[in-house]
Order: sequence, then structure tokens, then C-alpha cells
Amino acid sequence: MSATIIDGKSLAADLRAAVKAEVQRLRAAHGIVPGLAVVLLGDDAASRSYVASKSRAVAEVGMRPFDHHLPASVSETELLSLVQKFNADPAVHGILVQLPLPPQISAQRIIASINPDKDVDGFHPLNAGLLVTGLPALAPCTPLACIKLIKTIHSSLANRDALMVGRSHIVGNPLAQLMLKENATVTIAHTRTRDLPALCRRAEILCVAIGRAQFIRGDWIKPGATVIDIGINHIEVDGKSRLVGDINFAEAVEVAGAITPVPGGVGPMTIACLLGNTLRAACMQAGLPVPEI
Ligand code: NDP
Repeated sequence: MSATIIDGKSLAADLRAAVKAEVQRLRAAHGIVPGLAVVLLGDDAASRSYVASKSRAVAEVGMRPFDHHLPASVSETELLSLVQKFNADPAVHGILVQLPLPPQISAQRIIASINPDKDVDGFHPLNAGLLVTGLPALAPCTPLACIKLIKTIHSSLANRDALMVGRSHIVGNPLAQLMLKENATVTIAHTRTRDLPALCRRAEILCVAIGRAQFIRGDWIKPGATVIDIGINHIEVDGKSRLVGDINFAEAVEVAGAITPVPGGVGPMTIACLLGNTLRAACMQAGLPVPEI
């Protein structure tokens, strides 16, 4: 059997088009142009290219980008005052500080300083708490992307056994919460979990965010399962750098019912969900209903 490939690139293009249409409507009806401030510190190549694709996507859907590139040597006080400036600026509806941050800066303090209404990354403790309590929140973009991808296969997650491998506050934990909200029966696995292969074999929906190249083998996967590979790992093959996920794709594609590729799966959808969150933030700040996209 060969699995259905969940085409994140094309699904992300559809979502971006829907966001663009809503941005046009918001501008025409209310004169509001959603603005997203992205702050990048230092010269990390991966972060730079990620931020560049975010900024391109922001402009393409008709939003206003406010990009700030600061040296890695910037102090926490300087970064905090930049965040305060964006918090106070009514043209900025979303604020994203690209992680990781240099060692002299506490990511926790920076995230906590962002106005929760503008926290389009969904990392602020208030938004994390709202998500856990099931209240409307700005949820993190990668977990939102995963739910959208899963829903292209399963219109409902009720009665489904889902396994989340990884429990970070950025991906694993919030994705587990979102799947629970969708009525899946959710198990969370991590480094202290016993017999991970056996747990994986029971999962009808298997989501993996561990940052270990091709770690999950094909014979760990339940035949017909939906597999969401969130990992981004660079490996060297024949002297060339290649991007792979946390799943051994070549093996998994023969067993799974549906699977996301890396690249071209969760990654592009994450950026589209960031645009969706910025639109949502702009509507909420204006007291307008949030469009269903
Ligand atoms: P973290 O390092 O913060 O968390 C990794 C999690 O995986 C931890 O909970 C850890 O467990 C668990 N883990 C690690 N090794 C194993 C193992 N052998 N068995 C079981 N669990 C394990 O990573 P992130 O959540 O930030 O990111 C995970 C991956 O997702 C990375 O490759 C990252 O690049 C990618 N990513 C992709 C995004 C996208 O848009 N596609 C966005 C964000 C991240 P424990 O808690 O016990 O240490």
C-alpha cells in the first residue's frame, strides 16, 4: 500500500488565498490592514530564511510587514523596549520574535512581555492557559497547521486514538490539547516513555515532533494510520545537505494511510496559519467577528 501524500504546499496556498480575500474585505469594509511585526536577532541562516519566507507571505496576502533585524549582541532591555513599541502601535496587530534568542536574553521574559492579543505565535502563558481551558485563544501556528492537515483526512477526530510524540510548549503540548479539543483520545510520549514503538503501533493518528532525523520506523506505524511529521532535520547524503523529518518516510509511506512529506507538509502550512492568526488578531482587536478560514 502507498499512503496518500498530504500536500501541505497546495493546502497552504488555498489557506493563503482565503486569508488574502478576508484581508481585502477587512480593508474595504473597515480600512484595517493587518500588520505583523517580525523581530529577528543575529545571523542564523535557518532563522533568516524562515523569516524571509514569512515576510514574503505577509506582503503577498496584503498585510503590512514590520520587520526588524537586530544584531545578536542586542540587550534584553533593548528588545523589551522594541516589543513595548509594537504593543503600543495600533498598526501592528501581531508580534513574533523569532526563536531561538541569544543567551543574554530570556525567551520567557520576552514572550511574556508581548501583548497576549498580539501574540500570533500563541506562546504567551495567557494564550497557553486559554488553550488548555478550552477557551478561545491565539493557538501556536504549527499545531494549528497539523490540525488543518489532519482534518483533510478525518472530518472528525472523535473516537480516534491519537499519539503525540514530543511534549514541547511550542509543538507537542499544544497539539495534544488541540487534538483533545477535537475529541481524539490523546496520549503524549516523550523521552521517558516506555516502549514507544508499541505505543505508535496503536495510534490511528500519529504526530511526531522530536527533532530526531528519520527516528520513527515504518514497522512502528499502524497500517492505514494518518502520520504527521513535524520534525525538521538536516542530514548529509552523498556530501549534500538534505531536509528530512522525524519519520522514516520511505518506510512509512508503504504502511500509513496518509502522511505529510518533509519538506512540503507541515512547514508551509505553519506560515499560512501565522497569517490566519494575524488576521484573527486584527479582527479581535477591532471588535469584529473572526472569519472562518
Ligand atoms: P524540543 O526539543 O523542544 O522538544 C522535543 C520533544 O521531543 C521533547 O518533548 C522530548 O522529550 C521529545 N523527544 C526527543 N527525543 C525523543 C525520543 N527519542 N523519544 C521520545 N520523545 C523524544 O523540540 P520542538 O518541539 O521545538 O521541535 C521538534 C521538531 O519539530 C524539531 O525538529 C523542530 O525543528 C520541528 N519544528 C517544526 C516546525 C514546523 O513548522 N514544521 C515548527 C517548530 C518545530 P522530553 O520532553 O522528555 O525531553
